[in-house]
Amino acid sequence: MKLVNRFRKSKFAARLRKTSFYEIYKKDQKRRNRRNDIVCKSGNESLAKGIVLAKVDVVVTTKCNLLCEGCSHLMPYYKNPTHLDRDRIVASMKKLVEAIDWIDHFNILGGEPFLNPDLKYILEEMPIEKSRLVQVLTNATIIPKDPELFDVMRRKRVHVVITPYPSNEAIREQLIAVLEKEKVAWNYFYPKWVDYGEPQDWHRSPRELKRQFIQCNSVCKNLFDGRLYYCFRCSHVYDLGFCQRRKGDAVDLLNNTTAQNRRQIRRLLWRHKPFTACQYCLKGTKQNVCIPRGK
Ligand code: SF4
Repeated sequence: MKLVNRFRKSKFAARLRKTSFYEIYKKDQKRRNRRNDIVCKSGNESLAKGIVLAKVDVVVTTKCNLLCEGCSHLMPYYKNPTHLDRDRIVASMKKLVEAIDWIDHFNILGGEPFLNPDLKYILEEMPIEKSRLVQVLTNATIIPKDPELFDVMRRKRVHVVITPYPSNEAIREQLIAVLEKEKVAWNYFYPKWVDYGEPQDWHRSPRELKRQFIQCNSVCKNLFDGRLYYCFRCSHVYDLGFCQRRKGDAVDLLNNTTAQNRRQIRRLLWRHKPFTACQYCLKGTKQNVCIPRGK
């Protein structure tokens, strides 16, 4: 604990606070304790050596049954949405966990994750030894019926996170009743939707892009089809072919050794240069204003 406190007062920690993967919570004691816990669990005296990720989104499908206007994950742009290969998802999660020291939580998401029939297998095979929590983010329009899925969710400490949308009013109470009956943890999530804009070239100057990237400070990393991306917007902009992915824009977890993954993840987290995808995004700009949530 002494060591953690000394580290938190250092100049290095002050610099770290500005990065996306490390936050020191000043106000909330409970959260602060949790963060200290994470620092200790990183297995090193300081985060200079350990790699700690706050959140990792694991995309299991690009199929969604809502297709909301303003979807920052660009799901309506997928003309042939598909479930991602379950073995690649599991293998990439294992390679990621091998290469890092701690992930606060995994978010399983899509599209709509309950549409994926392999969700049970993915949760069963998930490496959770270096994480606090696994969350399944749902739009609460589907009520899962498989008893084995509920069983694996209980065993793997999965929380179902329900976002209230106008369209799921009727069905979400039923979903909650089923989850309560099956003793699966759940909670509501009220995300503030902001406008990430159309995925078009916004023609910003290099200087503007740099400023945008500094202000964006995206905390949540994205695991998509075997690669770790800096943010969800990057992964979908590249995957949909709006622009070309460059070397160093993502970590190819499945084709790297653990040492290479570790080195490249650290480089990704410390990155100062904007991505090509930032040109296709409004986060970190003045246009990134609040919009109504979902359908
Ligand atoms: S694409 Fe760039 S600006 Fe947009 S969220 Fe990702 S890092 Fe931030």
